[in-house]
Amino acid sequence: MRENIIEIFSSIQGEGKYVGCRQVFVRLEGCNLDCTYCDTENKVGCHAHCMVEERAGTHELVPYENPLSVEQVAEIVMRLTGDVPHHSLSITGGEPLLHVAFIKELAAHIDLPIFLETNGTLDKALTDCIDCISHISMDLKLPDVLSAPVWDAHARFLKAARAVDVYVKVVVAAETRAEDVERAAHLVADIAPATLLILQPVTPCGGCTAPSSARLLELQRITLRHLSDVRVIPQTHRMMDLL
Ligand code: SF4
Repeated sequence: MRENIIEIFSSIQGEGKYVGCRQVFVRLEGCNLDCTYCDTENKVGCHAHCMVEERAGTHELVPYENPLSVEQVAEIVMRLTGDVPHHSLSITGGEPLLHVAFIKELAAHIDLPIFLETNGTLDKALTDCIDCISHISMDLKLPDVLSAPVWDAHARFLKAARAVDVYVKVVVAAETRAEDVERAAHLVADIAPATLLILQPVTPCGGCTAPSSARLLELQRITLRHLSDVRVIPQTHRMMDLL
């Protein structure tokens, strides 16, 4: 089996519950959503090459011709983890759950926990591969960053995801409506009330503006009315100029 892959590298997880953990990242092509702040080139087939870090921590990326086989990806991952112990393999995108068959086959070839970074909308795909997933970072997308709201899809997804270690991340901008953030907290509280909620201030991109510190504190106050664990964590890898 082969897939087009954007990049494979070793770095730290810069966001969410596992911020600071060392991971290998495999970034797959394609997405089913259209977020205004997206910083990933997502058209399927637009990456003729996958950029691969051949030695962990060097930041030196070498082009490999796409598509890559599962065996090639597994060999790269195991090489990157040979010198440095890694927490997990982050499968990200794009939307990785568009590639369930590849994820399942890759999981069978590697000896690392799988950490799925997903937009949290494809519940059937998740159910199909959840047996090989250890951790899920689930984005919850607010309606103002999309062409159509996805509340129901998020609810179905969280019901499936709560079978494993999952946390939910909401990206907030200056213009984000408090009622949408509260509805997100409410959705999580209804389905999986012990779940950690991360409020992540947007890294300005595509016309989005970061919220003020006062606004972040207010959004945390509102969400803590519904959930016991709400943390504000920005994209830390951007601060350290890491991949
Ligand atoms: S879900 Fe992620 S990859 Fe897809 S459009 Fe939104 S930000 Fe981009």
